[in-house]
Amino acid sequence: MKKIWQCRGHLNNMFALRSYKFRHREYQRLHGTMSNQRVKLRVAVVGSGPAGFYTAYRILERTPSGIATVDMYEKLPVPYGLARFGVAPDHPEVKNCEEKFEEVAQSPYFTFIGNTMVGAQPLAVPSHTRSFQPNHVPLSLLQQHYDAIVLSYGADSDKDLSSSVKGLDLAGVYSARAFVGWYNGHPEFQDLDPDVMAGEQAVVVGHGNVALDVARILLTDIDALRKTDITEAAIAKLSENKVKRVRIVGRRGPAQASFTNKEVRELMTLNGVGLIPPEAEFMSPFLENSPKLGRPTKRLFQLLQRGSTTSVADATKHFSFDFLLSPTSFEASEGSSRVARAKFDVMRLQGDFLSKDTRVKPTGEFKELPCNVGFMSVGYKTHPLAGLEDIYNDGANHLNNEGGKVCAGINAKGLYVAGWIKRGPAGVIAETMYDSFETASVILSDFEDGEIGGKSCDGWDGVKADLGDKLDWKVVSWSDWQKIDKAEKERGSKIGKEREKFTNQNDMLAVLV
Ligand code: FAD
Ligand code: NAP
Repeated sequence: MKKIWQCRGHLNNMFALRSYKFRHREYQRLHGTMSNQRVKLRVAVVGSGPAGFYTAYRILERTPSGIATVDMYEKLPVPYGLARFGVAPDHPEVKNCEEKFEEVAQSPYFTFIGNTMVGAQPLAVPSHTRSFQPNHVPLSLLQQHYDAIVLSYGADSDKDLSSSVKGLDLAGVYSARAFVGWYNGHPEFQDLDPDVMAGEQAVVVGHGNVALDVARILLTDIDALRKTDITEAAIAKLSENKVKRVRIVGRRGPAQASFTNKEVRELMTLNGVGLIPPEAEFMSPFLENSPKLGRPTKRLFQLLQRGSTTSVADATKHFSFDFLLSPTSFEASEGSSRVARAKFDVMRLQGDFLSKDTRVKPTGEFKELPCNVGFMSVGYKTHPLAGLEDIYNDGANHLNNEGGKVCAGINAKGLYVAGWIKRGPAGVIAETMYDSFETASVILSDFEDGEIGGKSCDGWDGVKADLGDKLDWKVVSWSDWQKIDKAEKERGSKIGKEREKFTNQNDMLAVLV
């Protein structure tokens, strides 16, 4: 079903582009050379992650020079969103997309407005994050000064299971999002101080790729990470890591796991790390039905069957995939406030055990696992900016839209969405790119149809003028970011790394003084 949807999305995108090209030629025929014309389409992009950049790229690429401008607002002084702060440090090739983003930023019609948040901080700021209130511009002000606003601000909290899972506030239990942000140098998570020295047993709840990133970082030999862009503070802490056994626990079965085989393979080939395989009894129904399995699931079973490169006997650290366990609590030993075990309901699949969509229900049994450090990796949560509550779909975890266009709601005109806030917090960068291209195509169609554009507005200049004295913070331009980037690379080269990130805003901004 998902495949069909993706395919249809792609086809729609192709048709939209083809018809855009046709109208673009019409536009050129009617208006002649555009280079000296006044800007007709002023676009604000909120968020500088992959979605923001791919949307900006497509808009600038598909409009004649000077017709469209893109101003990109980013709450942090540094760009790239999860490409910088999510993608694991041992996946440097994934960060190559930043080269494309750098090219986009070179356009004379692109302006980066860093260290500037749109809307205010959501009310529920998790307690483990540092108090952080960047300088902000109301969304309503942007609406006065732009023809179109692309909301591409991602997902910046955790799916909250505190009403169904007890003990999430115990010492030693962390959100995977916070842990990932911590080792990647995100300023909001530098106080996390994850206690990986408490004991050998780790539990990671969730069967997505973030869970596998967390497991891999816990299990990888620290020397293999030293040359990556993981922060020095993370290296120092992880050098003392005592974890020897990681259980990666999912509430459903192997055919329903959302992690991908490439990431499973990476775990299987870690130096000195062995997979404790699922029990043969558990595996046999899948192996017997292997002709019915889809290719990726079949491949996953082959991987699980073949096991890790290092045998269990030779390995010094181990991991396992544990299925059909739904978390109910993290618990401490008597008299302690630190986690000692994790408790789960044992689940049963309700229906076809080979289908991706099959749900589970409790069997009435439960299981306890030893746990000195626990991570909840059950997905990210989006939120609406103030004023967008009426178009927010809490269940679907996104802002309501049709192909990237916000169609209903107060002040919907000129509002568009891209990336994780558009379709919910799932999907790799390639999927984010395709959906951003779709959004850009819709914006350009609306522009061609005269639905947006040509408004008497002046983008960032107008916003600045209206802010007046309230604009009392350092706005980070693209050339400022390049100075920060250069300083990080210089810090890195002194210690044999690609870069050493600044992990707080003050240090980032100090480079610019
Ligand atoms: P984001 O990347 O989150 O960007 C949102 C941006 O908006 C951020 O810069 C944020 O600071 C900014 N922002 C937020 N609020 C505001 C505001 N109010 N005003 C201004 N700015 C704001 N995909 C892969 O292909 N390969 C991988 O290896 C991979 N690893 C991943 C690892 C992790 C831990 C995670 C969570 C995801 C990973 N992904 C990976 C998926 C990929 O990161 C996403 O597909 C992509 O980043 C989504 O892009 P986005 O622009 O929608 O959101
Ligand atoms: P995800 O893929 O959606 O996985 C979330 C996991 O949490 C699922 O196993 C889900 O199980 C489980 N979960 C959700 N609610 C739960 C609950 N109430 N109780 C128990 N378990 C629950 O999300 P993610 O791992 O955060 O990844 C987000 C996106 O980033 C994904 O698209 C991922 O591919 C991408 N990413 C990619 C890479 C990479 O390419 N290397 C790395 C990291 C992230 P159910 O399926 O049963 O709901």
